[in-house]
Amino acid sequence: MGVYERACERVGRIDVGSYVGNEEKRYEEIRSKGEYEADSVLIAEYYRRVGVFLQSISEEATSVYMGMDMLIGYKVAEDGWDDFHERFPRFKPLNNWMMKLLCMHYLRWCSLIDAGEEKALQFPDVYEPMIVLFERGGGGISTHHGELVGGFGAFSRTIHSNRGDKAPYDIGEEALRRTIKEIEVAEAYLSEYKLGNIEEKACLRCGNRLEIQEYLSEYSGKWYKVKCKSENCFSRNFS
Ligand SMILES: [Zn+2]
Repeated sequence: MGVYERACERVGRIDVGSYVGNEEKRYEEIRSKGEYEADSVLIAEYYRRVGVFLQSISEEATSVYMGMDMLIGYKVAEDGWDDFHERFPRFKPLNNWMMKLLCMHYLRWCSLIDAGEEKALQFPDVYEPMIVLFERGGGGISTHHGELVGGFGAFSRTIHSNRGDKAPYDIGEEALRRTIKEIEVAEAYLSEYKLGNIEEKACLRCGNRLEIQEYLSEYSGKWYKVKCKSENCFSRNFS
């Protein structure tokens, strides 16, 4: 089986139904804070891979709408959308067109791999983080005011090549699970703390003590930071 065919199977298995109507819901009705955190790791890794790709073709920046195929000169076919809906009818009622667009670019890239296109062969896994994101139910993304937004926060819509200088993010299942767990531990710690329980909790990454810092903001009231005592370890803000 070719790379493209396997990719079609993956896209076909995405649970599109779980996304339909999500734009009507609040972020916290869709996913937990921990899941959003894991989503943000996947998106950051996608941006990093695009950054590495941009460096390889000597481009400074690109838009999140652009596919790698387009960056090396291919155009989306005029009937590309119809074609996609015909092949994956379950996507038809979905309003999240960012997700469809990225799936289309991914499929095109996989067909270029099969065709032996040099850049596609060199960067076969560039879309992997986003496809994993969609497979895990984290595709609730849209663009708004120049940003890619979702329950994970916001990413700039422009992807710069210097993203490629960052160290790779671990997007393996185990690492993503740990990311979710870390947030759950911090959330549980904070809610205990708010109830007056002062029992300390340990950082899942390094075992050092987690501490809670309280802040007061003029506009949004009190917020908290749950932070590991080790430097450059776990640190996350909560409202
Ligand atoms: Zn730590």
